[in-house]
Amino acid sequence: MIREDLLELTPEALTALANAGFVKRAQKDIAAGLLPRLDTAEDGTVAAHFDDGVVTRLPPGRTLRDAACTCPAGSMCRHRVMLVLAYQARHAAATATASAPAQAPSTSASGLGPEDTTATAPALHDTAEADAGAWTPARFDDAALAASFAPSVLAQAARLAAARPVIAVQPWRAASVPPAARLPMCSVRFFSRRSLVHARCDCKQGTGCAHVVLAVWAFRDAEALAPAGAPEVMVAVRPRGDDGRAVDAAEADGLLDSAPARAARAQLEALLLAVWMDGSGQPLLALSARVEALRAQVQALGWRWVDDGIDELWQLLQAQQARSSRFDAQRLLAVMAELWARPCAAGHAELAEQAATGRATPRPPLHASQILGVGVQGEVALDHLRLVSLGAALWSDETADGADVLFADPDTQAVTVLERRWPRAADAAAGGAAPPLASRRVAGFPLRQVAAGQVITKTATRRANGLIDIGAGARQTGVMPLSPTAWDELVAPLRQGSVAGLVAQLAAALPDFATPRQAAAGAATGTAGQLHVLAFERMAAADVQWDAAAQALHADLFQAPALDAASAASDDDTTGEGDDATVRPVDGLRLTLPHRAASPGAVDALARALAGEWGALRAVAGIARLRHGRAVMEPLALLTVQRAVVLQIEAPAPQPLALRQATDDLPALALLASDTLGLLAQWLRQGLRHQSASHAARVQAQADRLAQAGLTRCAALLRALPEDLRAARQPALVGHLATLGLLLQGVVQQA
Ligand SMILES: [Zn+2]
Ligand SMILES: [Zn+2]
Repeated sequence: MIREDLLELTPEALTALANAGFVKRAQKDIAAGLLPRLDTAEDGTVAAHFDDGVVTRLPPGRTLRDAACTCPAGSMCRHRVMLVLAYQARHAAATATASAPAQAPSTSASGLGPEDTTATAPALHDTAEADAGAWTPARFDDAALAASFAPSVLAQAARLAAARPVIAVQPWRAASVPPAARLPMCSVRFFSRRSLVHARCDCKQGTGCAHVVLAVWAFRDAEALAPAGAPEVMVAVRPRGDDGRAVDAAEADGLLDSAPARAARAQLEALLLAVWMDGSGQPLLALSARVEALRAQVQALGWRWVDDGIDELWQLLQAQQARSSRFDAQRLLAVMAELWARPCAAGHAELAEQAATGRATPRPPLHASQILGVGVQGEVALDHLRLVSLGAALWSDETADGADVLFADPDTQAVTVLERRWPRAADAAAGGAAPPLASRRVAGFPLRQVAAGQVITKTATRRANGLIDIGAGARQTGVMPLSPTAWDELVAPLRQGSVAGLVAQLAAALPDFATPRQAAAGAATGTAGQLHVLAFERMAAADVQWDAAAQALHADLFQAPALDAASAASDDDTTGEGDDATVRPVDGLRLTLPHRAASPGAVDALARALAGEWGALRAVAGIARLRHGRAVMEPLALLTVQRAVVLQIEAPAPQPLALRQATDDLPALALLASDTLGLLAQWLRQGLRHQSASHAARVQAQADRLAQAGLTRCAALLRALPEDLRAARQPALVGHLATLGLLLQGVVQQA
């Protein structure tokens, strides 16, 4: 009996099912020829006998964790990983000698020793051809589920399905990118097309949980509505009976037409109106009770993303009040617009769903519950979390210092943020001055080390928006330095391999008001956009210039043409000041890094990295957005061949920088939109109630400019403002201003 389920476990799968350390160690041992003796019993149980007397047994249908091993380690050990790798190696060797060497579809880089390649490529077995292609977990039928899960787990899954959770189903893309499902509370990946025991969930249980069952159901339900080739399909899982069969439930009540839902929306719009009328600079005391009551209403409805948006609005108002360096007027404007637009978008989705029920009409791509965040779990404890830093953002205001460290989890590709705030009052009480921010301690380590590190922890919790916390228990958390290859395990959409790919990803993204809220995209860094890693060969910088007026460093990153060996004098020729302007395409990535008092060394460090001081560039991570169809990024960290450079924790080392005039290369239309957004932000800060007598004329003049430029919809919305301001039409004002803001943002991005 051949254990096909073990043959198809790639190194990536083993890393997720065990951990990277065990896999690397086992690969080394195998490459060195330290194979255990294997035997397979009649029932398919594979036993590995090691030289030191340890015996490991893995029966069919058991997870690696449930395997029996005589070593003293607890739930996981290197022997279990060795068993799988040795089994693969032996099988490959057997088939290689039995048949003529096939053209290996070497889909998974095995990472094993080069001297042993024929014996160790796991894809090289007789069924490899049939196994290489796409497959879907929908193939696991009710019998397969019943065979792999206890009745209590199936019953728990049925209870979860009763709430009709929306699950994002991601089909198979490659051997290294297996089918995956994003549930509201966790993610499941299917590493084996034969066995459900090798599906991995990122919840505390890890394998064999009810989430895997839900994910299988979602894949089945997705087959009915999946457009072929879609990278991701959203499915509201159908309720299941106790036997796991789908039942057609009575149409669920609308999420938005209940009395509490209508009341919450009315209160939300009243809050937004109060901020617009009295200004974001108004005393917060008047608003705080109102915000608290509204959040309780929204939480009772389970509208997780609306609640999260109100939370960010409140933090922005407080940041403005404290004159914090991370207050951003445009971000405030965007959050105000989002809070109005999100329930509206959910309402439209719900109506469209109801219209599509029972008909062949296509359903909307997003469900109302997804837009609102219904069913999204608040906080989950995570099992053995590995985090790779993508950089840090430091801030300070009148009352506190703070830092946000941004991480990616290579196992799930999830982006998380670790937030810390140190009140000044505590330093004063301790009788001392504040220590340098980079020396402050986070989870028992200096911030400098965590921000430029890879963290492994067993005491993390994650909130829905990606905010994580790490407990202080010293033995539960370890930090290693960020290596130049630390981001190699990240994949799309987080990591992009070209500027064009990044632009396409940003352009295809759904609007912020319809997607799950991400702490990494908003308040954490004080700049709006999406966190991305960009990595490609021959990364080069040009036009590195200091804009004294804007107090910002600008540069363009692009891919240098491949040099033939003769002209390649040294790597450094392609970095630094682009002396040959003709090689630089206009569509490079524009880097913009403003100087901030809380991180005085960041601009110098960026200039040094771009100049090649630490060797050739490998990758950059930062907050990216579109501006006039081009990708613009505020960088947080760079990897060079020598080291990781986490910009905001670097010590100042002043550099002579090329100065340039403060010219804005935006075309007239985008400039006009940007200018109008500036006006809106100014009115939002001052309050529409407190505008001078000339305000109406100013509004009309700006509306005329918009109309002349062809932005007629924007012009009409702006022209309605004085009329909206009359008390009778004030409810309309919030919606008009939100729509105007969203339209103008679109013009700036695409014009
Ligand atoms: Zn063991
Ligand atoms: Zn789970």
